[in-house]
Amino acid sequence: MRFMVGRYGPDELFYGLSALYLALLLINLIFNSPVVYIIGIVIMFTAVGRSLSKNRAKRAKENRRYLELTAPVREKVKRYMARREQSADYFFKKCPSCKKTLRFPRVAGKHKAVCPNCKNAFEFTIKGGK
Ligand SMILES: [Zn+2]
Repeated sequence: MRFMVGRYGPDELFYGLSALYLALLLINLIFNSPVVYIIGIVIMFTAVGRSLSKNRAKRAKENRRYLELTAPVREKVKRYMARREQSADYFFKKCPSCKKTLRFPRVAGKHKAVCPNCKNAFEFTIKGGK
């Protein structure tokens, strides 16, 4: 445990790099490429090296940058998961005009709606549901 004193430790970027390494490992089961193998090793060494680093300020800055860069993707995944959870009760439809995603109670049949964002009126059909 003394070894880890003052070390930076794992952060979100560490787990991101580890996931990337595992993904490359799985991909390489198919392609068996030495280049992919070496890239994977470099990624894993980078991840472990960062977590053992004593330059905590620099590592924290890297992690913040990583979180900034991946925020749009993580937000999309979060929204997708939320919609999936609600999909039994709600129907999600993009406004044909402004492309904003709107949520409607899942009631089967034809519906008329006015987009609260751009006031565009449109019709849509929900198949199945209640
Ligand atoms: Zn709209």
